[in-house]
Amino acid sequence: MLFHLETALDEHIMPDSKLNIDFLEKLCNAFGPSGFEREAQKVAFDYGKEFAEDIEYDRMGSVVFKHGSKGPKIMLAGHIDEIGFVITEITKKGFLKFHQLGGWWDQTLLTQEVLIHPSQGDDEIIGIIGAPPPHILSPEARSKVVTKDKMYIDIGASSEKEVKDLGIRVGDPAVPYAFFRTMERIREEKKEDSDEKETRKVTLAAAKAFDDRIGVFIGLEVLRRLSEDKIEHPNTLYMVSTTQEEVGLRGARTSAQMIQPDIGFSLDVDISGDVPGAEGIVQKMGKGVSISAGDGSMIPNPKFRQFVTEVAEEIGVRHQPAFLKSGGTDAGIIHITGMGAPSLFLGIPTRHIHSHHALLDLSDVENAITLLVEVIKRLDKKTVDSFTKL
Ligand SMILES: [Zn+2]
Repeated sequence: MLFHLETALDEHIMPDSKLNIDFLEKLCNAFGPSGFEREAQKVAFDYGKEFAEDIEYDRMGSVVFKHGSKGPKIMLAGHIDEIGFVITEITKKGFLKFHQLGGWWDQTLLTQEVLIHPSQGDDEIIGIIGAPPPHILSPEARSKVVTKDKMYIDIGASSEKEVKDLGIRVGDPAVPYAFFRTMERIREEKKEDSDEKETRKVTLAAAKAFDDRIGVFIGLEVLRRLSEDKIEHPNTLYMVSTTQEEVGLRGARTSAQMIQPDIGFSLDVDISGDVPGAEGIVQKMGKGVSISAGDGSMIPNPKFRQFVTEVAEEIGVRHQPAFLKSGGTDAGIIHITGMGAPSLFLGIPTRHIHSHHALLDLSDVENAITLLVEVIKRLDKKTVDSFTKL
């Protein structure tokens, strides 16, 4: 672990920030793996409904929060699903075999705790992904990676009946058992375009499910600012909390087909290039909102990307270019919906994604929200047309 993690500092968090950290905490801690998003989606819905002018649904569980009713259709997408597990077998001895929902690296799993939602019981059950002690392993076995298909979840039961009596059945979902927390650090950084140094207080947050509750959070905070500050814009905004992104951008596909957007944004975690082993990734945690120049799912419209970058420069929002050779986000499907829609992935470079504990800098989140509000104010039909017309 790179940081000594402190417990939540609720009332001391980012005194200058407008971020609703209590909501972020609730959203990240909520249960909602791909295909089982209902509980987390309800948390998003209860918050967002206060700021939306209208709410629509697709039939994949995505929720659409609307604001404004004229001009180009702007779709913001954050995915509410998190990576998790599904129970595939209950053994005679009372252990649970599982399959992944979304992409897990085998090495991150042994001895981690998971939270199971039994379909036939009322109580959530905590399990441990079992691992043999080194004492009983051969030297050869000790240096080998254990694959998921060899792993099992131990809930402390000793028979199949005991497991079933707790209401657990094949097909039941599970998520990482981990909780949101924040920490503050004082950082000395070189000023941009000068050799002078400045001291910055940074507030970091760790949680499961930042991928992609942080995107849903950003989208709903944008909506809140538009609503609370009574900001007029010549567009129709569709902030969509999509489902099943981690298993193939499925909720973005259905909701985008429903909306037929003119412009799209995916709001998601990005990979942070500031940890050992991530060399070559230019985007880094704490250096601003990342503006993607491309990933495995799309090449963003260059004029649209330039427009967003220029807005960031003009209003002084910290931002950075980003690129990923593989992987993708909801924008990968939005930009090829209907006749196409110029789309962009705005990211929060985050350490240790797709694990029990991811880490990000809340100032990057603040920057993403400020930038999006300004971009929404400035987009109009003429500007949107200019991205594609010759
Ligand atoms: Zn992901």
